[in-house]
Amino acid sequence: MGVLPSEPDDDLYGRLKAFEGRPAVTGGTGKDPVNAPMIRHWCEAMGDTNPAYEGPDAIAPPTMLQAWTMGGLSGHGHSHGHGHSHGHSHGHSHGHGRGRPGRSSAYDALFSLLDEAGCTSVVATDCEQEYLRPLRPGDRITFDAVIESVSPRKTTKLGTGYFVTTRMDVRADGELAGTHRFRILKYAPAEGRRTPAHPHPHPRPVINRDNAAFWAGVAERKLLIQRCTHCTALRFPWLPGCNRCGGDGWDTVEAAGRGTVFSYVVMHHPPFPAFDPPYAVGLIELAEGVRMVAGVVGVPPEKVRIGMPVRLEFRTVEEDLVLPVFNGRQA
Ligand code: ZN
Repeated sequence: MGVLPSEPDDDLYGRLKAFEGRPAVTGGTGKDPVNAPMIRHWCEAMGDTNPAYEGPDAIAPPTMLQAWTMGGLSGHGHSHGHGHSHGHSHGHSHGHGRGRPGRSSAYDALFSLLDEAGCTSVVATDCEQEYLRPLRPGDRITFDAVIESVSPRKTTKLGTGYFVTTRMDVRADGELAGTHRFRILKYAPAEGRRTPAHPHPHPRPVINRDNAAFWAGVAERKLLIQRCTHCTALRFPWLPGCNRCGGDGWDTVEAAGRGTVFSYVVMHHPPFPAFDPPYAVGLIELAEGVRMVAGVVGVPPEKVRIGMPVRLEFRTVEEDLVLPVFNGRQA
């Protein structure tokens, strides 16, 4: 779709631009002050062992900035989505409670305008953060957000629409501690996007120079595990360096093909084209000691269990796509 100066959308763009600088969220207050338990949970989830985040002089990981503004499952008040959630879920606010963060009427009006123009879908595209001072346990968080910019009309693979950038200012005890900018695309879905030439092609592995030899092995019906030539540690998935010693030399060991289900999920939702739910995806512990994620086949998904022995096999998913899977059927 062309973007011509004579298009009537120019008028729409002008109306959208008028929202720049207007508030998106006002009067936000963090549910809890910055605190050690949340910092610890975050570090555990991220596997971040930086000592700066522990002990009496701990600071919060800077990337937690947005976490302190989130309302959690219960939100910032009843029946009220927290103000910055629109990038992910675009729930609607239900009025502004006293002292609670509310999505502004300007923000709602901007979205209505875009909805009316046919830009009814939304996707979060990216975010960036800037840190001005560290946050420490005890800091009380307040925040507000402003509609920073609206892009001219753009056409992407998803469809045609407008990028809306919002900037949230996060304050600790009244002092600006950081900014969180996030961008969404509010768009009209491209027509025909649901009817590609291939109705439901299976997603392809991303093959790069770090894992090319693994996929070359799979093509020969071999499951190759990387082995560090310095310390002999086995590793999977394939990486350019050794997690144990940092060495970058490697060779391979062919997996014997025996393993057990270390963990698994049975996928029902969300649906993905080319996949037929329910199906089981396992974290398989190979006899060699490394773990890999793969489909579990040969038994109904509800029969998959932790500890279940499985055997490697290679499945031709499509003409040019072979994948390793693990069969749980007992011989
Ligand atoms: Zn090593």
